[in-house]
Amino acid sequence: MTRPIRLDIDLSAIRHNYLVSRAQTAGRRAYAVIKADAYGHGSLEVARALADVADGFALLNIEDAIRLRRAGIRQPMTLLEGAFDLEETVLMAEHGIAGAVHSPHQIDWLAQLDSDRPVETWLKVNSGMNRLGFQPEEFDGALARLKALPSARVSTVMTHFATADDERGVAGQWARFQPLAERSGLAVSAANSAATFRHPHTHGDAVRPGITLYGCSPFAELEGEALGLRPGMTLSADVIATQTLAAGETVGYGATFTAPQAMRIGVVACGYADGYPRVVPSGTPVLVDGQASGTVGRVSMDMLVVDLTALPSAGVGSRVTLWGEGLPIERIAAAAGTIGYELMCAVAPRVPRHHH
Ligand code: PLP
Repeated sequence: MTRPIRLDIDLSAIRHNYLVSRAQTAGRRAYAVIKADAYGHGSLEVARALADVADGFALLNIEDAIRLRRAGIRQPMTLLEGAFDLEETVLMAEHGIAGAVHSPHQIDWLAQLDSDRPVETWLKVNSGMNRLGFQPEEFDGALARLKALPSARVSTVMTHFATADDERGVAGQWARFQPLAERSGLAVSAANSAATFRHPHTHGDAVRPGITLYGCSPFAELEGEALGLRPGMTLSADVIATQTLAAGETVGYGATFTAPQAMRIGVVACGYADGYPRVVPSGTPVLVDGQASGTVGRVSMDMLVVDLTALPSAGVGSRVTLWGEGLPIERIAAAAGTIGYELMCAVAPRVPRHHH
């Protein structure tokens, strides 16, 4: 008997979501962002599921990119932060993997590269996020240095938006980025999911949707379904025990929940060590055999508790959906004061994955 918890990953939904995301762009290329193990969905499985439709893949680690190459994924791949050292720069050349160049160090590594295969380079501009990238006034110098190197082939100018998902939008960053992007004559890549859906003037030549591939909305006021997306992952676990409570009894660590009347509760085989957020309050939504209910008391390491009072047919063996199909991850993220991205990435390795 194995512990009854599972993460179901719906690869056909992810494929659908990729096509919906790209369809926002009137024919631009879309690099599927599959970093962080495809936001917890499995980068190899996702890359395979998208292999015949995706224009390219965007990743973080060279190791991941090489793993995908070895598994037969032939699409263009780009590393969003580029190389972290000279050795990685060598591997990028060897395996035909493109990457961002955001700092003078990365140009130095390219200058040291002795390879007859130039590394495809995406020159990254800091247009206001103030994380990675050359300042607009450093752009021409960096571009000239790169163009003089036989080991680099600059294909693309890129930037990344800080507020494409809210009412502040992209105007300031776009105003800094667009003129130099245009005069560079390079391919342009700026749009994350939010800009892919909401800021068509930033689509350029290649968009980089991440979160929407997995069915989650980047916008706080909308859920993925409203964008035509389907959930990529469903986290579920079974009820493994039930208890009946008299009014006034408490539940769990800290005794944070007191039964207002007689209740029946179910103990579910999922806790914060599985990636379910401990911070959620009582009443966070769950589905028990498809019927709406809520959590009761604190989430513990390996268990959480749900209310079965209004669900007389539920009991040991009932399947509890924590998020996913029928229960948007955005709702759990809101209850936890975070975003769907973080929940997806935090599902623990001990939770068995089922891709279908
Ligand atoms: N482009 C870059 C450079 C990123 O760092 C990310 C993710 O953080 C994305 C695109 C995808 O963003 P999103 O998941 O919001 O679409």
